[in-house]
Amino acid sequence: MKTKIWLSSPHMGGKEQAFVQDAFDKNWIAPLGPNVNGFEEDLQNYNHIKSAAALSAGTAALHLAMILLGVGQGDEVIASSFTFSATVNPITYLGATPILVDSEIDTWNMSPELLEVAIKDRIANGKRPKAIMVVHLYGMPAKIVEILEVANRYDIPVIEDAAEALGSKLNGKALGTFGKLGVYSFNGNKIITTSGGGALVSDDAEMISKCRFLSTQAREAAPHYQHTHIGYNYRMSNIVAGIGRGQMLVLDDHIALRRANHDFYLNLFDGIEGVTVFTEPDESYFSNHWLSCVTIHPEKCHGVTRETLRLAMEKENIECRPLWKPMHMQPVFADCSFYGDGTSERLFEIGLCLPSGSNMSDEERERIAEVVKAVFV
Ligand SMILES: *Cc1c(COP(=O)(O)O)cnc(C)c1O
Repeated sequence: MKTKIWLSSPHMGGKEQAFVQDAFDKNWIAPLGPNVNGFEEDLQNYNHIKSAAALSAGTAALHLAMILLGVGQGDEVIASSFTFSATVNPITYLGATPILVDSEIDTWNMSPELLEVAIKDRIANGKRPKAIMVVHLYGMPAKIVEILEVANRYDIPVIEDAAEALGSKLNGKALGTFGKLGVYSFNGNKIITTSGGGALVSDDAEMISKCRFLSTQAREAAPHYQHTHIGYNYRMSNIVAGIGRGQMLVLDDHIALRRANHDFYLNLFDGIEGVTVFTEPDESYFSNHWLSCVTIHPEKCHGVTRETLRLAMEKENIECRPLWKPMHMQPVFADCSFYGDGTSERLFEIGLCLPSGSNMSDEERERIAEVVKAVFV
């Protein structure tokens, strides 16, 4: 069996272990310490944002973001339907109801038009949505300026799920810094990883300070343990944060390498009828190209489907994956209201994510190219 080519695997830069060693040397083996503070500063500086809280997961950051916005039992929260389930699950942790909105075709992210349709309809039904959760899928910036325009018109706060989009920008501004709150993930498959982790960022330093408080069991400043809030154990460990500090040193390199993978696929599929590589709509968009994706239109390429390509790759021990199955198509969210026009359903049907690791070798790219050439003869 040939060695496995992963969709996206961890890629260490080399300095991570020194930060972890430092945590051991100084006995900061806790969910606090210099690496946690240092990692937060790195994130703030990199994204030009006032405040960042390092947490145990992106999902934890999404959960706390909604708590900070006052989401509770019986509320409605609007979310992108075309996403990973972790965007929507925390809405239900709070006893709130997800309202799902479809994508537009340029960025594959939330349609500002359908968002407005959804808001109007929910208000007409008697409930003003408490928050809007916008996802930047695969690193591609959503039409966040238009989305914020709509959201501001109805005075609804926006949370950006930028779990996949650290380092992506729109008009030169970092994703995750447009909305009231932004979320990043450092899970093992993301553009940088701490093995597992996340962050919540905002220009509202008070909110992030409250986030840190809630993430460490909501302990009040008292010699005994005193509690006036329900707390969570969501803080990032100082060991894990050391990995994060090391990874921040290579983030820009990783983005360049992922973008080079995207260029490789543009070249590889150039001239192949019926296959489109997912690309930024114009120069104002800068994607980190966390995952490179294609759509395959069988009617234009002799009946080849995304499954044909995926299975041919699998045979060669190369991992590919269909695009996210939209949340409104998932049994667990089948009862949620959905505002859509078929865009994400179609994307799920014809789209495929391709190996995109920043650690991919020329030899691995060659193996991928051979499969593609054999499938599209
Ligand atoms: C990975 C991911 C998350 C969850 O982040 P974790 O750190 O794994 O909890 C949330 N939303 C999206 C879109 C993701 O890709």
